[in-house]
Amino acid sequence: MIGLMMKMNKVEVIEKCLDDMFKDPNCELNYHNDYELLIAIVLSAQTTDKRVNNVTSILFDRYKNLEELSNADIKDIENILRPLGSFRKKALYVKEIARILLLDYNGKVPIKRKELEAMPGVGRKTVNVFLGEFYNVPLIAVDTHVERVSKRLGLAKDDDSVRDVEEKLKRKFKRDVWAKRHLQLVLFGRYHCKALSPNCDMCKLKDICKYKKRS
Ligand code: SF4
Repeated sequence: MIGLMMKMNKVEVIEKCLDDMFKDPNCELNYHNDYELLIAIVLSAQTTDKRVNNVTSILFDRYKNLEELSNADIKDIENILRPLGSFRKKALYVKEIARILLLDYNGKVPIKRKELEAMPGVGRKTVNVFLGEFYNVPLIAVDTHVERVSKRLGLAKDDDSVRDVEEKLKRKFKRDVWAKRHLQLVLFGRYHCKALSPNCDMCKLKDICKYKKRS
């Protein structure tokens, strides 16, 4: 086993570790259809998936379709979203996304990046997560976890932009595993290589980790 690891390059070692730790990674946001997923991803900015799931279970239970969401009282949406932070802005996003989907797209979330990114609160990362999760489009979304882990492991440089990190990861991993690697890196960062207290002592990657060598 040690001999095998010695023959592997750094990216292969990382991939093996990710596959060992998270064999079948899944998106941790709950949803039943395309618009619920899109809205859940928008709401997940600067908060946890667990908190998002708690509020979306109330939101989508009270407002059962896009018509109801677009006509909802903004104050009621704000109250539901309050635990997430930035709830006023996010409430506006929810209502506006519902309105745009109904008026411009017949209630169906579009699949073109340009159309998605024209919606409020929807940026490149949101689009990548949405298309990867709902349509299995091979993409790598770089969120805070993916960025941190990539830089700590030396898959990207400390001063790389989010877009730089995305492009570097796409070059290092094979296209057919991009979506899986994205999910694995999110889970690795969320539960193991955490921002404030990474579990370095128990980490199988500590021998190749730039961050660990510096500390
Ligand atoms: S050694 Fe520490 S910093 Fe490096 S990948 Fe593992 S948990 Fe993260």
